Amino acid sequence: MSQTTTYKCDRCGGESQESAFLQSVTATIRWRNTDWQSTVIAAEWCDGCTEELNIRKPAKKSPTPHPRPCLEEIIRNIAREEIGGAA
Ligand SMILES: [Zn+2]
Repeated sequence: MSQTTTYKCDRCGGESQESAFLQSVTATIRWRNTDWQSTVIAAEWCDGCTEELNIRKPAKKSPTPHPRPCLEEIIRNIAREEIGGAA
């Protein structure tokens, strides 16, 4: 029997099956009129929500490397140059 785990954002309700989809977000509120007692609020938010609220900067995406031409493409370019040069 197989199981599937679905991770769901507490803010927008977005879902994914990858655990890295969610980030733990906590906020601590300290109450002055109660001798600085604190309340902690915790949630699991997706990358889109943390980026939308500027809690976290978007991950830098590495530039996609220029794909190397395959042998067939190299041969075609050489033939194209030779044919084009002869005309
Ligand atoms: Zn979200």
